[in-house]
Amino acid sequence: MVDIKTVGVIGAGQMGSGIAHVCALGGYDVLLHDVSPDRIDQGIAQIEKNMVRQVSRGIISDEAMRAAVGRIKAAPELQTIGTTDLAIEAATENEETKKAIFKALGPHLKANTLLASNTSSISITRLASGTDRPGKFIGLHFMNPAPVMKLVEIIRGIATDADTYETAVNFAQSLGKTTSNAEDFPAFIVNRVLVPMINEAIYTLYEGVGTVDAIDTALRLGANHPMGPLELGDFIGLDTVLSIMNVLYEGLADSKYRPCPLLVKYVEAGWLGRKTGRGFYDYRGDKPVPTR
Ligand code: NAD
Repeated sequence: MVDIKTVGVIGAGQMGSGIAHVCALGGYDVLLHDVSPDRIDQGIAQIEKNMVRQVSRGIISDEAMRAAVGRIKAAPELQTIGTTDLAIEAATENEETKKAIFKALGPHLKANTLLASNTSSISITRLASGTDRPGKFIGLHFMNPAPVMKLVEIIRGIATDADTYETAVNFAQSLGKTTSNAEDFPAFIVNRVLVPMINEAIYTLYEGVGTVDAIDTALRLGANHPMGPLELGDFIGLDTVLSIMNVLYEGLADSKYRPCPLLVKYVEAGWLGRKTGRGFYDYRGDKPVPTR
C-alpha cells in the first residue's frame, strides 16, 4: 500500500482549499494548484482565515494552525502535483475539464501516485479510464465545508483495486472523517438525494408556490433542515447544482431529473450563489436579501 505523506490538490476554489485545509491539519504536506494563480493565493488566504476562526473557537491550537499553514505550498505548475503520493482533483464540475487535467498530469506522475476526484456526480469509472492507472483511481467526495463536515463519500470505479480503496479509507479516517461507500452511479448517494430536492425547491419557486423566504423557512422549521434548500443551493454554487442535475438527467435518462429553467437562468446570469455574491439571495449587503 502507498504510504501517503504528500497530497496534491488541483483546484483552489471552495472545495480544493477546504481539502487542503483538512489535509494540512491532518499532518500531510500539501501542494495546491489552480489554473488561475490568483485563486491559489486566495485559497491559501481563505485557509488561513478559516484556521484563525478555528483557533478563536478553541477547535485547534495556535501551534497546530502554524504547523498546518507551513505545510501548504502553492503549486502554480500542474506538473509538480505529479511528485505527490495522492493527487485530489477538485476543479470545476465539468467532465471535459477534469479529463483534461488528468491527461495533462499523466506524464508527470510518479509510478505509485494515487489519483482521486472530488467530483459531486461524474462517473469515476469514466474519469479513471482516461488515465494510465484506473486501478489507482478513486472518488473521494468531501462535503462542503470540508473542514467542518464529517463525511467523505468513497466511490470505487469498476477498476479501482482493493489497495487503493483501503488506502483511501485509511486516509479519510486519518483526517478525522467518517466514510460511506457509494457505487459509481450518477451523483452517488448524497447528491442523488440532496440535489433533486434543491431542484424541486427551485421549481416550487418557479411555479409561484412560495417565495424564497417561504420555501427556506418551511424546510428549516418544517423539516428541521439546518439550511433552507435555496440557501443551500447558493452555498454549494448554482453552477455545480446545475451540472449535477445534468449528470443525473443524462446519466439516468429520466425526465424527473430535468433541471428547472429558473436554475438555468440564474447560472446563465452568472448568479451562482455565495461565491459570486448573488444567487437566490443577494449577499452584497450586511445580510442576505432574497432576489425573488
Ligand atoms: P469552485 O468554483 O469554488 O472552484 C473550482 C476551481 O477550479 C476554481 O478555482 C477554478 O479556477 C479551478 N479550475 C477550473 N479549471 C481548472 C483547471 N483546468 N485546472 C485547475 N483548476 C481549475 O468549485 P467548488 O465548489 O470548489 O467545486 C470543485 C469540485 O468539488 C467540483 O467537482 C464540485 O462538484 C465538487 N464539490 C463541490 C461541493 C460544493 O458544495 N460546492 C461539495 C462537494 C464536492
